[in-house]
Amino acid sequence: MSEITREQLHAYLDDVLGETESAQIERALRESEALQKRLRLVMQERDRGEHSLGAIWRRQRLSCPTREQLGSFLLEVLDDAQAEYVRFHLETIGCPFCVANLADLKELQQEPVTAARQRRQRFFQSSAGYLQGCGDTPT
Ligand SMILES: [Zn+2]
Repeated sequence: MSEITREQLHAYLDDVLGETESAQIERALRESEALQKRLRLVMQERDRGEHSLGAIWRRQRLSCPTREQLGSFLLEVLDDAQAEYVRFHLETIGCPFCVANLADLKELQQEPVTAARQRRQRFFQSSAGYLQGCGDTPT
């Protein structure tokens, strides 16, 4: 069986893997002390990295990248860690929702730049508002 990557362990902890892959990792964990040790390290890393972008991202909504992030991924403007996560999510996890979303975004990106930019701005403003209002429900 192939080596379990750090990204897979993160995804496992985030509960975003498909059943088959989760089961595979659980089996590997039962069989391998070394892997259990790695999982503990990954968990510590997550605790320590509370303020890293990746950790905040994971906390917000790790399972699926936002449309904005998918859009940035298409435009290749994400930083390496984010791009790696999105790629992992799309290609390794194969999330059908995000794959469909990405296909949709690809079509949208055929539109004139200004329209796309306005949409991005709106999206950013609304998600910033959402992050600020996190916890209380606006009426
Ligand atoms: Zn997804």
